[in-house]
Amino acid sequence: MWTMSDVEPSTTSTSSPVSVPTPSRARPKPGELNFSAPRVGKPPRHLADLDPAERKAAVEALGHKGFRARQLSTHYFERLVESPQEMSDLPKAIRDDLVARLLPQLLTPIRTLAADKGRTVKSVWRLHDGALVESVLMRYPKRVTLCISSQAGCGMNCPFCATGQEGLTRNMSTAEIVEQVVQAARFLRRGTMSVRDLAGGAEGVPLRVSNVVFMGMGEALANYNAAIGAIRRITDPAPDGLGMSARGITLSTVGLVPAIDKLAAEGIPITLALSLHAPDDKLRNELVPINTRWPVDEAIDAAYRYFEVTGRRVSIEYALIRGMNDQGWRADLLGTKLNARGRGWVHVNPIPLNPTPGSRWTASDPGVEREFVRRLRALGLPTTVRDTRGSDIDGACGQLAAATA
Ligand code: SAH
Repeated sequence: MWTMSDVEPSTTSTSSPVSVPTPSRARPKPGELNFSAPRVGKPPRHLADLDPAERKAAVEALGHKGFRARQLSTHYFERLVESPQEMSDLPKAIRDDLVARLLPQLLTPIRTLAADKGRTVKSVWRLHDGALVESVLMRYPKRVTLCISSQAGCGMNCPFCATGQEGLTRNMSTAEIVEQVVQAARFLRRGTMSVRDLAGGAEGVPLRVSNVVFMGMGEALANYNAAIGAIRRITDPAPDGLGMSARGITLSTVGLVPAIDKLAAEGIPITLALSLHAPDDKLRNELVPINTRWPVDEAIDAAYRYFEVTGRRVSIEYALIRGMNDQGWRADLLGTKLNARGRGWVHVNPIPLNPTPGSRWTASDPGVEREFVRRLRALGLPTTVRDTRGSDIDGACGQLAAATA
């Protein structure tokens, strides 16, 4: 058993009592979908909300020279500067004004929890209006993956997902999404996760975020503009952005078909993951309520078009739920439907269900899981079971509910 422990008590963790906001809306009824986030006070404008031209205009509108925008970008995206005092190329008076107007604090750390011998770290953040979101940093032998949130809560109401059961509180802004990556990059730079037994260079060499997955709270495609803005900031070369490879980014969706097509046309080669969870409409209508609008075949067709346009192999997520969706015939039907579109375009990712509070569902038996995987592989589909990092700290898939903070 891993023990839950607070890490970095001095900087990123507070054990003070946390005021948890009351949810802004009632829990959704079964099957109810919510696309329109409640309108709340906008988060303060931040450098990361703006593209380079907009940053220059914003700096000039504040009465400063345009080149200050690039200096600020260098501090924020390239040097990951945490304190304004380090921005020594900006005269003090200018610095205070620019920092106050363009680098407001967006995420306040509430708790930081570690599991898996420190290789998994969950952060709970408070946004300016009290909404809580979470991100999870996972260290693997050859990569460091950050799982980020794109909405506070989620409107997609999947009954097996803890976030879905909380309902949608609000959309996050581009900068709020990006700031999770910047915070993780700073955390890694402090060396907290550099342990000897794992790769990533010599001991003491700080790690970097190599992969970002939109698999935390929220349906990123239901917050399309902010999510795309964040992807651009994350991938734009420094100092305009963080300079990460688009190939290291995965966006997971319930299958909002028009948004999948729009994403394909953006020309950013990120990986798309489709949360399928059932190959037949009858069951998927129940497990992923959006299926009543875009059924299984339309969702798979959109995923295939995404592959055709981007050349990026799509990933199919399938949470294995005991006695619900884990039958051999469903594995065969899934394999047949995927192969009907073509070969070599898709990868299947079964995920053992993480039980959520109040749900009577649980993960499939190991033997049933093995048989499900065997059948898919027999049909020629590359299939890997996803590990369930962080389940002890409610950081695993579907467990990121603000209520757990
Ligand atoms: N809204 C997006 C991303 C959020 S969750 C989406 O639905 O794809 C990321 C993945 O975790 C999704 O595939 C989701 O279906 C899965 N998931 C949610 N709850 C889960 C649970 N309790 N156990 C295992 N996987 C879960």
